[in-house]
Amino acid sequence: MSERIFNFSSGPAAMPLPVLERAQREILSIYDSGMSVMEISHRSKIFESILTKAELGIRELLGVPLDYRILFLQGGASLQFSMIPMNFLTNGIAEYVITGSWGKKALAEAAMVGRVNTIFSSEKSGFCSVPVAGEVLVSADATYVHYTSNETIDGVQFGYELRAGTVPVVCDMSSDILSKPLEIENYALIYAGAQKNIGPSGATVVIIRDEMLERVASGLPSVLDYRALALNNSMVNTPNTWAIYMIGLVCDWLGEQGGLAAMEIRNNEKAAVLYEAIDSSDGYYVGHAETSARSVMNVTFRLPTEELEDKFCSEATSNGLDGLRGHRSVGGIRASIYNAFPRAGVDALVDFMKDFALRNG
Ligand code: PMP
Repeated sequence: MSERIFNFSSGPAAMPLPVLERAQREILSIYDSGMSVMEISHRSKIFESILTKAELGIRELLGVPLDYRILFLQGGASLQFSMIPMNFLTNGIAEYVITGSWGKKALAEAAMVGRVNTIFSSEKSGFCSVPVAGEVLVSADATYVHYTSNETIDGVQFGYELRAGTVPVVCDMSSDILSKPLEIENYALIYAGAQKNIGPSGATVVIIRDEMLERVASGLPSVLDYRALALNNSMVNTPNTWAIYMIGLVCDWLGEQGGLAAMEIRNNEKAAVLYEAIDSSDGYYVGHAETSARSVMNVTFRLPTEELEDKFCSEATSNGLDGLRGHRSVGGIRASIYNAFPRAGVDALVDFMKDFALRNG
């Protein structure tokens, strides 16, 4: 197949076409070096500039203050589930806000390392809501509070940033980072697997307040130690040079699009069109999330039967709309519409949904 399709995958996910085209142009010789970015030394001046470019790109887009470090790590967001408690939870209790499957995993991993407490969970009602602002009460002496700003599997998203006074706030932003502006000062640590909104898989972005580095536990292996990783500019060992290069290109593209405020407007418009198609289907399509918790990034919904969901996915794929099957743990349909996903693809899905409901109602 030479044509590109509309790829609704949850991650790895659609990349901006101009980024792929630029990478294609530069694949054999990066910055006139005569070598691919996958062939140059990570200790070379060229790679140093690539790493700096990726860091500055994120710093500028998100307005990351100078007392925060930006790290590019490996092991995915999943390793952060463990690294966070390994680095910080030697004493005290960490509090977790659980609004979906990924937060639950983060909690389970942390519980293997230290003492944890669930202060909010929407699991009993099927992970379809988030707490209203002010509902979650974080203990003043908690070691940190952890939440997941967007639950990729369940399709629920916080519409606000959780605040916890002087307690360090740790946030898994894997599936909504760079989709809108943030107040970074609210957070002690933000982490995100790159493969949705930032670039390819294989790199995890960690934004960490300097002061947290002083709290890092001693005796950790250096590849798991935030302080060592920061001291060595993310290069305690060989980093994922390709992913970091691609992150720099994605940041350039986001800047050209008008930055995160412009992305937020576009993302909201895309999601609104899709939710409107669900809401105006006379109950044929039923959204999973409560209206107030609907994700702008992952739109999850059901059809009347599982058989119809199977048919929907396979017919959609034949029509150039791929990756719509919900996560294997929850079923249903999930349309992931991150930054790089084009509005035209959302419109094509809405047309398909209307036609499918007419034919299969
Ligand atoms: N957190 C969230 C919110 C996610 O969506 C994912 C991946 N889909 C993860 C964590 C795990 O990421 P990784 O596969 O990079 O470990």
